[in-house]
Amino acid sequence: MKVTIIGCSGSFPGPDSPSSCYLVEAEGFRLLLDFGNGSLGVLQRHIGLYDVDAICLSHLHADHCLDMCAYHVARTYGPAAPYAKVPVHAPADAPRRLAAAYGMPEEPGLETAFDFVPLAPGPFEVGPFTVVAGQVNHPVEAYGFRVTHGGRSLAYSGDTGESAEVVRLSAGADLMLCESSFLDQPELPTDLHLSGRQAAEHAAKAGVGRLVLTHLVPWNDQQRILDDACRGGYGGPIDLARSGAVYDLA
Ligand SMILES: [Zn+2]
Ligand SMILES: [Zn+2]
Repeated sequence: MKVTIIGCSGSFPGPDSPSSCYLVEAEGFRLLLDFGNGSLGVLQRHIGLYDVDAICLSHLHADHCLDMCAYHVARTYGPAAPYAKVPVHAPADAPRRLAAAYGMPEEPGLETAFDFVPLAPGPFEVGPFTVVAGQVNHPVEAYGFRVTHGGRSLAYSGDTGESAEVVRLSAGADLMLCESSFLDQPELPTDLHLSGRQAAEHAAKAGVGRLVLTHLVPWNDQQRILDDACRGGYGGPIDLARSGAVYDLA
């Protein structure tokens, strides 16, 4: 399983990265975790425009799903259209919300390009991957994911405050992509986002092999996010996410 960070900028795109989007590949199958604003452009540096086989959306905040609208254009009106519909595992409200974002009626909405499957907590199969979704602590319906293939696992927190479910989803994972939106300080808001320290505490409890701090908000000093994470009691390697970074879990 190969993981490529397409976008790791938190809440809005930054100068060096789009918003959230991660490409997970195995056996020639290409799965996207989130499809935030700006990510469709950078994605084309790594795979062909029509090479996406499935998409999982953690939640429906713009920085995690808005390029679904752009990709709908590519798959509906491209030169060899109609293209095969891409399965999209997303919160149940996704068809209505994305149609509204695009500015089209709910029928047919974006369903000329996508087959929407409502997310619920638990496991499901996507191509060669087993995906487990778990509900995390954010102001809207939001999921974290564990993606497993060939005995290797990737955990992705999505957007979340402190969450026992993130620890459960990540238990023993080879790689954990954990959001680190906040600079660490006393009295952080609950059920919203994590600091680097909190991300590392989750990684330590889960016993993951490597922690990648992501959803990095451009207004923060990212070195401080990394320094905060180094105080979280996690003994394994810690990286700041970077658009274009590749992790080969094979
Ligand atoms: Zn976000
Ligand atoms: Zn969010």
